[in-house]
This record gives sequence, structure tokens and C-alpha cells, in this order.
Amino acid sequence: FQARQDGLSTMVYAPVADPYDPQRLALLGEFRHALGAGQIELYCQPKVAMASGAVIGAEALVRWRHPARGLVPPSEFIPLIESTELIHALTAHVLREAVRQSYAWRQEGMAVPIAVNLSTRNLNAGNIAHQLQTLLADWGGSPDWIGLEITESSLIADPGTSIAQLNALSQLGFQLFIDDFGTGYSSLNYLTMLPVDVIKIDHGFTTTMLTDKRAAAIVKATIDLAHDLGMAVVAEGTASREIWDALAGYGCDEAQGFYVAPPLPAGEFADWVRNRAFRMP
Ligand code: C2E
Ligand code: MG
Ligand code: MG
Ligand code: MG
Repeated sequence: FQARQDGLSTMVYAPVADPYDPQRLALLGEFRHALGAGQIELYCQPKVAMASGAVIGAEALVRWRHPARGLVPPSEFIPLIESTELIHALTAHVLREAVRQSYAWRQEGMAVPIAVNLSTRNLNAGNIAHQLQTLLADWGGSPDWIGLEITESSLIADPGTSIAQLNALSQLGFQLFIDDFGTGYSSLNYLTMLPVDVIKIDHGFTTTMLTDKRAAAIVKATIDLAHDLGMAVVAEGTASREIWDALAGYGCDEAQGFYVAPPLPAGEFADWVRNRAFRMP
């Protein structure tokens, strides 16, 4: 790992095809230990309604608090972990923490749903609905506590299983999001087959839309498409006042991004909401 300018730590590991690569195996072993040792922490980033500024949700984003390397962002380890069966242990951990945090928030009178990111393998394994029902029963919770974010690409590997899973989750009452919209290779026709409630525009388009006309065209078209299909839209990467204003002009429903707030340690989120750290421009 090396120090990055933003203070987060970066990995020197470059993914290789060889599954027995010693560095790969060492990192997987280290991650397995980290999960058990409580080093995988939940951060929560708010999503706000653009019309009112009200906090209407949070996204759970993990970080690895490594004892020697500092705070490691998910981009440095998620791709490796989701290429292995270890992703099941990670997702189970995140779901557990998300439900536990939801319970704590409700004890404080705050009812904000948390969305958890699912990987391809999670959907194809087919027991997410059961896991969630068990967890929620343990904490006296209900499906409106938890949302689930699925990328387009996670549907491609096994569309039949994925769609069946998503239908089951949707019927139970979990809110479903299509994440990183526009970056995958799925057919737009998928959108009409999926029980999805909200489309999330990838931050790659949002953060460049003010200088790149093509990105702006994709943002605008995605918002119109979602609305025509009866879905809502969240723009990830709402990083500045100028981006917020442009999105509002396009009729975007919800915003998530550094202009509103960065991902916050889960334990600090409720304070942030109470202190109204975000004010409408
Ligand atoms: P994602 O699900 O698309 O999450 C949104 C990412 O956009 C987060 O990066 C967030 O910090 C970043 N972001 C938010 N606002 C802004 C902004 O204004 N500008 C820019 N440039 N970026 C912004 P993060 O936390 O580094 O997570 C990266 C990815 O790691 C996530 O992308 C998700 O795919 C994955 N990930 C994180 N936690 C989990 C997890 O628990 N399970 C799984 N399977 N994947 C996870
Ligand atoms: Mg996400
Ligand atoms: Mg995303
Ligand atoms: Mg993304």
C-alpha cells in the first residue's frame, strides 16, 4: 500500500489472472481476518430530495480501517473480494451492520433507509431475501429499513436468477436501485423487465456534465427515461452547487455527492442529519 494525496491508503496489488498468486492469496487471508477483527467499517452517504433538501436515504459504503495502512477505500479491495466467495461474508457483514444501525437510528427517532450494494455473486447465490428477513426479524425491523443497489453488469451473468431474486426482494418490500447506470452493457429493455424503483446516474457522468456535452446528454436522457418508465432518479457525484443547479434544471429527483456530504462514519450520520449540515442552495 502507498499513501495517497487524499489521505486514504492505496494498494500496490495489481489483479492477475493466476488465482494462486501469492500476493492475491495473502490479501484474501488478510481481508478474512479484517472482517472478523472489526476492521471493515460502514460509512453512510446521505441522499437528499432535490425539491426540499430533506434526507431521504443513506448509502452504506465500506472502508477498511487497516491497522498499518490507514483507511483503505473500497475501490482498492472490493473488485478482488467480489471475484471470490468471500463476497458473501462481506455482504453478510454489511447487511448486519446496516440493520443494526437502522435499529439504533429508530431508537433515536430517525427513520432513514440504508441502501446496501450487492455484487453479482450475491444475487446469483439466491439467499439474500432469506438473510434479510432473518436479520430484520432479529431486530424487529421491516423491509423499508433497507434498500439494495444492483449494477447493470450484475444482471448479465445470470439474468434469469437475478430477475427472480429481484422480483422476490421487491415483493417483500425492499426498495431496489440500479447503480452506475449507463456504465454497463445491458440492454435498455432490461429496465422494463426489472422491478426497479430508482435509477442511480453514475458519478462519471454527473461530475463531467458541465464541461462535457455528451455526459450532459446522457444525464438528461436518463432522467427523462426514468420518469417515462415511472421510476425516480438519484444523481451520484453531485459534487458542486453548479452541478446541483444543472440537475435541478433537468428535473432530477434526488442528489448524492460531496456537495451534500461525503460518506460519513455510520455513527456520525444521525448527528449530521440533526444538525442540518446541508442547506438547500
Ligand atoms: P457506488 O455504489 O457507485 O458508490 C458511490 C461512490 O461514489 C462512492 O465511492 C462515493 O464515495 C462516491 N461519491 C459520492 N459522491 C461523490 C462525488 O461527489 N464525487 C465523486 N467523484 N464521487 C462521489 P466509494 O465509497 O469509494 O465506493 C466505491 C464503490 O465500491 C461503490 O460504488 C461500490 O460499487 C463499491 N462498494 C462500496 N461498499 C460496498 C459494499 O459494501 N459492497 C459492495 N459489493 N460494494 C461496495
Ligand atoms: Mg452504490
Ligand atoms: Mg454508483
Ligand atoms: Mg459508481
